[in-house]
Amino acid sequence: MVVGTKESITLQPINWFLMSKKQNNIIPPLSYSVSKSYAPAPESSAHIHIEKEYGFFIDGNFSKSTSGKQFDSINPSSGDVIARFAHAQKADVDAAVSSAKEAYQRWSKLSGAQRGLYLFRIARIIQERSRELAIVECMDSGKTIRESRDVDLPLVAAHFFYYAGWADKLHYAFPGKKVSSLGVAAQIIPWNFPLLMAAWKIAPALAAGNTVVIKPAETTPLSIMFLAQIFQEAELPAGVVNIITGDGSTGELLVSHPDIQKLAFTGSTEVGKKIMRKLAGTSIPYTLELGGKGANIIFDDAAPDQAVEGIINAIFFNQGHVCCAGSRLLVQEGIAPTIIQKLRDRMETLIVGDPLDKNTDIGAINSKAQLDKINDHIKIGQSEGATLYQSSNPLPSRGFYCRPTLFTDVAQSHKITQDEIFGPVLTIQTFRTPDEAIEKANNTPYGLSGGVWTDKGAKIFKITSAIKAGVIWANTFNKFDPTSPFGGYKESGLGREGGVHGLSAYVKLS
Ligand code: NAD
Repeated sequence: MVVGTKESITLQPINWFLMSKKQNNIIPPLSYSVSKSYAPAPESSAHIHIEKEYGFFIDGNFSKSTSGKQFDSINPSSGDVIARFAHAQKADVDAAVSSAKEAYQRWSKLSGAQRGLYLFRIARIIQERSRELAIVECMDSGKTIRESRDVDLPLVAAHFFYYAGWADKLHYAFPGKKVSSLGVAAQIIPWNFPLLMAAWKIAPALAAGNTVVIKPAETTPLSIMFLAQIFQEAELPAGVVNIITGDGSTGELLVSHPDIQKLAFTGSTEVGKKIMRKLAGTSIPYTLELGGKGANIIFDDAAPDQAVEGIINAIFFNQGHVCCAGSRLLVQEGIAPTIIQKLRDRMETLIVGDPLDKNTDIGAINSKAQLDKINDHIKIGQSEGATLYQSSNPLPSRGFYCRPTLFTDVAQSHKITQDEIFGPVLTIQTFRTPDEAIEKANNTPYGLSGGVWTDKGAKIFKITSAIKAGVIWANTFNKFDPTSPFGGYKESGLGREGGVHGLSAYVKLS
């Protein structure tokens, strides 16, 4: 970050403008001053106690691995090792599932009101320890303290509160049906929202009377260990939630375990397909929350400044590591030059840097491997003939960082338009009519999210009902609430999480 200076930045018109025939719409090069004179405001991590080594959380206790196999977890903001984690092998997965199976005998027989009390207690401790958890989440994942403090942690607590409320009302959730739990739920989660994904899965599973074995991603195994401490503090009965750490090989062992009765997976479409093949022909119900390539559609009657803020939030929130990110911008031709210029101006003001600094807008990319994947796509975009623009802000000298990036002169067939890049990279295409926007928005194997920006209510209804995506926001983006179901169509997955829909994935109805 630049401290105590003012920089004068001259923005040149990008090629797309030069090629545009509508010369009147060309925004001239802009010379203006951007104040970057923010003093560092780092959140202290001095009071956070991190062990050198972590084992598993099985049967209510922290235990060592049977094989002694371990892996390092890296803090992406520096590249330093945070701690070593046990790598679960078959015997460890067996122990976790057997603990959950044993605990199910008692947990499923508790009344809903009793289960709800534990969940309320967990939610309240999460609130009490929320600042600490927010800091750990930043160190583990690279996300910014502003987002983990103001978005992730409030939502984590909200999910436990919300499902705590359903625990003794399952018969009202599914009127006229006999509701029973399933058994041991195996849950596998990704690295982009480690605690939030854990909350999305654990809270409804427990509310409905199931027990859990959960595996976090190999790059973010830390914060869930703090959640395990909270389960102990809340005196959650032993074995109700078990946590095993490891990579995809551990995940495979969990998916194929004969004693699981439910599988909930959030991650890439590629792994989701493998899991679907593995579970095909079994009676195990599964939900798959997979990748996305959301279209954010801006009409010429939208409020331009609001839309620009929405575009920024849609693609740069959480470094673009968001399954429902608005990574494809579709902008109506007449306002494209204005929107693109405003976007570039706004990108110049985004601070990329230390996730724990409260001024930071874009934190660290979660891992070296993910940064390499993003940079490869940026090179591919250039070789495909798209025009690259990146902000000129400085990057920290250590750790994994990427500047906010956009591409213009993009074709529908380009790899950068088709692939989920999962980073701060936006592709921009234009359209002339609503039908063209719908055609382009749906021209993807994914169907997770979308956004529409217009001041016409009728247009909102027309477009939102024509886009094949599980969640579509109008004049806003990336808004979440535990009462609202979330999930995908097509290659973005099967089933819903959140709301009563999320609860229905953890019950048997007869
Ligand atoms: P990933 O599929 O590589 O890994 C996800 C989890 O699956 C990790 O815990 C990993 O260890 C495990 N895993 C890997 N191979 C496995 C296998 N063969 N069997 C069982 N488990 C296996 O995904 P990622 O890179 O961690 O996460 C990013 C992806 O997650 C993106 O595609 C993103 O869109 C998606 N995602 C989707 C949602 C949603 O709600 N739809 C939410 C967040 C992230």
